[in-house]
Amino acid sequence: MKIPFLDLKKQYLSVKDEVSDAIGRVLDDSAYSGGPYVDAFEAEFAKYCGVKYSTGVSSGTDALHLAMRTLDIEAGDEVILPVNTFVATAWGVSYVNAKPVFVDCDPESWNIDHKAIESKITDKTKAIIGVHLYGQPFDADEVKKIARKYNLKFVEDCAQAVGALYKGRRVGSLSDVSCFSFYPGKNLGAYGEAGGLATDNAEYDKRIRSLRNHGSLVKYYHEELGFNMRMDGIHGAVLSIKLKYLDEWNEKRRSIAKSYRQGIKNPKLKMQRCPDFASSVYHLFVITTEDRDGLKSYLEAKGIYPGIHYPVPCHLQKAYAHLGYKKGDFPNAEHLSRSCLSLPMYPELTEEEVAFVIDALNRY
Ligand SMILES: *Cc1c(COP(=O)(O)O)cnc(C)c1O
Repeated sequence: MKIPFLDLKKQYLSVKDEVSDAIGRVLDDSAYSGGPYVDAFEAEFAKYCGVKYSTGVSSGTDALHLAMRTLDIEAGDEVILPVNTFVATAWGVSYVNAKPVFVDCDPESWNIDHKAIESKITDKTKAIIGVHLYGQPFDADEVKKIARKYNLKFVEDCAQAVGALYKGRRVGSLSDVSCFSFYPGKNLGAYGEAGGLATDNAEYDKRIRSLRNHGSLVKYYHEELGFNMRMDGIHGAVLSIKLKYLDEWNEKRRSIAKSYRQGIKNPKLKMQRCPDFASSVYHLFVITTEDRDGLKSYLEAKGIYPGIHYPVPCHLQKAYAHLGYKKGDFPNAEHLSRSCLSLPMYPELTEEEVAFVIDALNRY
């Protein structure tokens, strides 16, 4: 048996006819950039998330960048974020010449340790970005409480968690502005690069729409320095179709995660603790073990191909050497980076494949 970490083709084949028809319509209408298919997806996606407004953009990274611009974060400002995330969470902060200020994660949930936030707040702090890591919501009410107390903006990075629930509410509806990635490998993946933003604030929505379109709401009149970060029509059409299946696909991921949680009995392995307030959509199913590289080779020899998310926490990335952090600054995140391994996880995994992975882990 050969079990890849991710298999995008299986999902494509399950919607192939519908998607091909939709792409054909976009081409027939020459609605290549923005346009009616993107408008339609935005309306559906806002409704899905339980917010008033959503905007399609060119990637999750660009969504994070535009969130910072929309909130007027600028040079000299500081933005607090968890250190164990995909580095793009911090890129947005750096793109506006503000300074990312990292916080360690909780050793059990691996999400931002909200108790570690307050000591990082200075008079330059303007915002906090929380990341729903691996698809599991962080404690948004606790983070929001701190943000409100210090008059800071609150942003969610929902790139890994589309559809996840926090106290029964969809992620993306919990903060001032939230950011999504529709990168092909994410739970709601386009067939190319795409991302989105969601907000209940009409002013923010207007600003995002302008920024993504050359700083312009009226053609050829430019209010400010803008960007070309529009979503392609084809992605809008594909995402509208895939959104209809998202809950079903996320439910399959949950059921696979349940099998992993119940089946894996090896005391050498630990899993992400999921608090009662969170319903994860398991973008990733991550385990930790002391000899991670040994376990990885062992699984690969059996035809199982796990991933590592992520081998280097943000503060130890070369790109952020100038911030002056060092090894030992964030022990929980550093431990996670040394010991984490992501098991195969996608809705189309079969019961037999899941059982094979569990059996291999229990024999390790
Ligand atoms: C994928 C991801 C991003 C970036 O999204 P892209 O669409 O790849 O630019 C940002 N943050 C997190 C947590 C991610 O997982």
